[in-house]
Amino acid sequence: MSQRIPVQQIDPKVTAKAPSSFGKSIVTRSYQGMFRNIRLYSTAALLALFFLTVWFEWEGRQAVLWDLAGGKFYIFGATFWPQDLILLSALLIICAFGLFFLTVLAGRIWCGYSCPQSVWTWIFLRIEHLTEGERHQRIKLDAAPWSWQKILRRTAKHSLWLIVSAVTALTFVGYFTPIRELSLDLLNFSVGGLSLFWLAFFTSATYISAGWLREQVCLHMCPYSRFQSVMFDDSTLLVSYDAQRGENRGARKKASDPKALNLGDCIDCTLCVQVCPTGIDIRDGLQLACISCGACVDVCNDVMQQMGYAPNLISYTSERALAGQSTQWLRPRLLGYAATLILMLGGLYWGLDSRSLVSLDVSKDRLMFRENNAGQIENMYLLKIINKTQTSQEYQISMQGSDSLSLSAPNKVHLSAGEIATVAVTVSQLDTAAGGVTPLTFTVASTSQANISSSSSSNFTAPLVR
Ligand code: SF4
Ligand code: SF4
Repeated sequence: MSQRIPVQQIDPKVTAKAPSSFGKSIVTRSYQGMFRNIRLYSTAALLALFFLTVWFEWEGRQAVLWDLAGGKFYIFGATFWPQDLILLSALLIICAFGLFFLTVLAGRIWCGYSCPQSVWTWIFLRIEHLTEGERHQRIKLDAAPWSWQKILRRTAKHSLWLIVSAVTALTFVGYFTPIRELSLDLLNFSVGGLSLFWLAFFTSATYISAGWLREQVCLHMCPYSRFQSVMFDDSTLLVSYDAQRGENRGARKKASDPKALNLGDCIDCTLCVQVCPTGIDIRDGLQLACISCGACVDVCNDVMQQMGYAPNLISYTSERALAGQSTQWLRPRLLGYAATLILMLGGLYWGLDSRSLVSLDVSKDRLMFRENNAGQIENMYLLKIINKTQTSQEYQISMQGSDSLSLSAPNKVHLSAGEIATVAVTVSQLDTAAGGVTPLTFTVASTSQANISSSSSSNFTAPLVR
């Protein structure tokens, strides 16, 4: 459990370490507060979604599964095919716009609250706290020579990190390979080579990223952190220290009058630095490394409360608010992103709603035409039909074009869920009709569900002179 930090126990001499570089670790301390709780509940919900969804069943198969071998993506009652990739691309673009909107509104709030790198780092930090103790104990343990106690604590920490990493990898791979079979294979030591490779890869990636690299990913590897600062404006909510109110900073007795001591509200306890997962001092001003997690806001508010001062010496605020002006909520850039998002969401909804649940591809035979036994000109076609529903369907094939053309095709075509069939059909022309090229359209329609049909165009070719 994180605990409230009594002001009396704050030792200004235990200053936080500077932002780490590779090889140096940031040792954060635990704390409590409103933003921590928001993060706790929101990440708990996201983690539950990630870890549990993969186990849901839907009509006898995994509810959410990206079947790479079969080229299909199942999401509950819907099946998406490679032809629907445009919808997935649209969804990714919408997510990107959602991120841009959030960034203009509240800076790197995504990083601090929802980014998997941050979420898994918080989990690993929690394990570190459980196995090695509070910040000062961990600093002491780091500096201590190797002993049985140190070996045991380190072993416990790394074992738990590896277990979390392995469960994360199994869950992630389980979205691409049926997780129940994969888990059974794991228990029976019969996992295939490819699955084993990806399990090992994602276990290592999680262990290294959340256990060792941590803030280095945010600082040096994440492309989003490179460009997000150019999206900020003077009304973007960022975690900021109110220097006018806080300076001059300095230690004092709780009962003393800061004004008489020529001090501002910052008691220079450095707790805001000690809780910071990226190891920065927000009192130095806005910094690229700040992931807007609100940890310093929580801990400083706690200090302000204990000192009997007003809250929000550090807060989510805008440059305008810090300059004494009001934050502009309805500003063109934000409204532009919101309008684009709404339009794109509407487009995606329309795309999903109008998505055909049967696919039809027509390919004309390379032989332009032939004459049949009745002396009529005949063209041959191959119709590739995909049943995109999750139930068996019976289809009727029809052809629209010219009255002089007649279709010869199977009466009904039965396809089970997800089945693909190639059907050969011929179209013949009355011998009195004119030659040349006649456009035509083939249609396949479900005999049981009127809304399931698909059409595809082609043409009929006949010699000009017979
Ligand atoms: S800003 Fe707040 S938490 Fe940070 S040193 Fe000053 S009083 Fe302490
Ligand atoms: S400065 Fe504050 S909000 Fe920014 S990363 Fe550090 S603790 Fe989080």
